[in-house]
Amino acid sequence: MLTSEHTATLTTIVGPEHIATGDSERSLHSRDQSSHAAHLPEVVVWPTTTEHVRLVAAFANQHRIPVTAWGAGSSLEGNPIPVEGGIVVDFARMNRILAVHAEDFQVTVQTGVLYQDMNKTLARFGLFFAPDPGANASIGGMIANNASGTRTVRYGATRDNVLALEVVLANGDVIRTGSRSIKQAAGYDLTHLFVGSEGTLGLVTEATLKLAPLPEHFSAVVTSFATTEEAAEAVFNIIGTGLSPAALELVDTATVAAINGAGEFDLPVAPNLFIEFHGATEATLETELKLVRAVCAESGCRTFTSGLGRAARNRRWDARHEVAELLIRTHPGHGYIITDAAVPISQYPALVADTAETLRELEGVRGFLVGHAGDGNMHAIVFFADTPDEYARVQQAFNDHIVEKAISLGGTCTGEHGIGIGKQKFLAQELGTNSVELMRQLKALLDPNGILNPGKVVSPI
Ligand SMILES: Cc1cc2nc3c(=O)[nH]c(=O)nc-3n(C[C@H](O)[C@H](O)[C@H](O)COP(=O)(O)OP(=O)(O)OC[C@H]3O[C@@H](n4cnc5c(N)ncnc54)[C@H](O)[C@@H]3O)c2cc1C
Repeated sequence: MLTSEHTATLTTIVGPEHIATGDSERSLHSRDQSSHAAHLPEVVVWPTTTEHVRLVAAFANQHRIPVTAWGAGSSLEGNPIPVEGGIVVDFARMNRILAVHAEDFQVTVQTGVLYQDMNKTLARFGLFFAPDPGANASIGGMIANNASGTRTVRYGATRDNVLALEVVLANGDVIRTGSRSIKQAAGYDLTHLFVGSEGTLGLVTEATLKLAPLPEHFSAVVTSFATTEEAAEAVFNIIGTGLSPAALELVDTATVAAINGAGEFDLPVAPNLFIEFHGATEATLETELKLVRAVCAESGCRTFTSGLGRAARNRRWDARHEVAELLIRTHPGHGYIITDAAVPISQYPALVADTAETLRELEGVRGFLVGHAGDGNMHAIVFFADTPDEYARVQQAFNDHIVEKAISLGGTCTGEHGIGIGKQKFLAQELGTNSVELMRQLKALLDPNGILNPGKVVSPI
């Protein structure tokens, strides 16, 4: 419980214009985009410098006050919900691009910058940061959740594109990890310890990221199949031929119908694959296009359309990115769960077949399948009557089932949304109890008072 003296000290640290204790700001920082229960913080602060973050952490550590980092609040597993109250540190005002190292294809930023804003600036240099979660997330939130997205199949997840960090530890110590060198072998890899740690090990204040050149040439394809299972089989066949798509997304019939219904699209009402290739020349793209057409034909595609112009291609990706929000908007008053499991690509057809069948058999739900298929990641968005009983039923019969299936296929309980609150129960099943125990020990070492985002990733110490 924060006292008025605590709040007064925090006000001195960040300045009166960068702190709020009112209901509305606390409420805005009480829940993410998941269905996990909201929890109010006692105070929200907006640091503008690493020094602010350092002082807030040291003060909170001294007084054992929980500190939960906040990026854009777009998580889907309860990751930034301050379940034990305390201080929310919102990084939105630490959003400066500190240096564009264009000649090295790198950028150094404060971590509150939103990746879409950052990419607008980087476009002027002909560069972009490739991982693209559907929501307009902050770089800090992407690093903390190890976010990925439609382009991960070609460019990797956030983890693969982080070179160096500045991190404020729980006790207020500031450390630097990594370097701007692409090759790094200097000791333990602290950079990647913090990637995916969901704000439980440290507060990331700066990051140096790897960038890619904006593609000069691209080709976009939409191909449709009779069944979701056939579309998933085609995904395996495409990746299996050694093709290297820049995006390979699976969208089931119900989702295609929703996208068509929302706007200017006329996609074949069937399971679709959205595919894109990036290339240095038109000629290399032409070769890839020929090959993918052949693979899709052999996999039984019903339609195959290529050659979308840039505007049409951008609109279609916008629609894909916005589909979760569209579905949630069009199911007012419903409870919902968004699943997130991933498997090796050879097992993707089995995961998709099992998900589709489970969905068909589950009563009282409306389900939609969308997946970053090229990297073996499957999401299902399921809507149901908004009651605690229904939530528990669907959680157990659908989400838990899909996760267990993915783990049994050699995969993971979360491809990109993170552990947060909802996936903690699967950690030991996936990684073994010794690994989870080591995670607990690391947490205890870096945050002995358990102040950083308590109640997440590993259970309390
Ligand atoms: C419509 C929609 C579509 C989505 N699609 C995708 C997708 O395709 N791929 C994907 O990966 N995710 C997706 N997400 C989930 C979400 O956008 C990502 O997890 C994203 O990385 C969260 O970033 P954020 O800035 O919103 O972070 P928040 O939700 O604010 O926080 C995320 C976690 O990071 C911690 N954190 C935040 N900033 C820092 C910091 N500076 N230092 C330390 N810890 C910090 C928080 O404590 C929390 O644990 C989607 C979400 C929505 C709503």
